[in-house]
Amino acid sequence: MSTPIEGFITQMPKVELHVHLEGSVRPETLIQLATKYNVALPAKNLDELKDWYTFKDFDHFIEVYMAISGCFRHADDIELIAREFLIGQAAQNIKYSEVTFTPYSQFVNSGLGFHEQMDAVNRARLWAEKELGVQMAVIVDIPRLISSEEGDIIADWLIERYGDGMLIAMGLGGPEKGHPPIKFKSAFDKVRKAGIPCILHAGETQGPESIWQALEVADSQRIGHGVRAIEDPKLIAHLREKQIPLEVCPTSNICLKVYPSIAEHCLPQLLKEGLYITINSDDPPMFNTTLTNEFLQLEKHFGWDSELLEKLTLNAIRASLLTDSRKQEMLTSFQSEFARLRSQYLG
Ligand SMILES: [Zn+2]
Repeated sequence: MSTPIEGFITQMPKVELHVHLEGSVRPETLIQLATKYNVALPAKNLDELKDWYTFKDFDHFIEVYMAISGCFRHADDIELIAREFLIGQAAQNIKYSEVTFTPYSQFVNSGLGFHEQMDAVNRARLWAEKELGVQMAVIVDIPRLISSEEGDIIADWLIERYGDGMLIAMGLGGPEKGHPPIKFKSAFDKVRKAGIPCILHAGETQGPESIWQALEVADSQRIGHGVRAIEDPKLIAHLREKQIPLEVCPTSNICLKVYPSIAEHCLPQLLKEGLYITINSDDPPMFNTTLTNEFLQLEKHFGWDSELLEKLTLNAIRASLLTDSRKQEMLTSFQSEFARLRSQYLG
């Protein structure tokens, strides 16, 4: 039996800005694909997968992530995981998602072409829009371990494809340490010149310097994670003044040991500082979470009420890359849905 606020959280309409397509693969599907392609994963069943998903540190996480990417060999696999992802989003009433996708990994692993992969995601996107009533857009990211020349290749791909109605931005993910944004300056310059926004991961395993660079080198429109901004009062003041949105992923931060527990997470402090916060799930099955669960945890540990949860949700709409008219439409419909749910669950 769930409490009224839990019912409210489960049913409330949501938007997600920081979630990875490959990192959202269902465990069952991953095992199936690994079996199909004879990929020797360290985990052969769901129980073993649970152990494999217990991360020692960020490098271990990247190792697992790369192994997962190696299981996507055909465009059909990409379409399948995108469809299953969208089914999961729809089940949580996540009306719109800006999904990070790393086609370069599949390109290197199995020669899958960029457009072939994007076409597969687009088929799933159009299907979900029609059948499930949920929408998505794609942020194509540079995995930090590649060379800057390879980053340029991804920039060229994006420029060629931009304007397809699905591709909205360039991202940067993977291990921050040793691979600062400046390494890919030429790729960011290229895409920005073509009018494509950048949204970088920064300030997760590395400190404030990484966030400063994401802003300076790529004019990052939002910061993926960004939680370690808390270590630099000047940066906090800058983020507050510019209201640059942070995509905070609480459970991910615990699983990857950025903070020891939700109770000790700096989120309440970031809010108190007047920063622009959105809540996200990052790689939900890998962290045994969902966006709904993130909100449930915040309510449980910090006692956040329905007004704050609504504010954080509307924050995500405003921080999205939707057009102003779509944002306005969505804000209006979310607000009336929140009012209805509030009277239904919280009287
Ligand atoms: Zn991420």
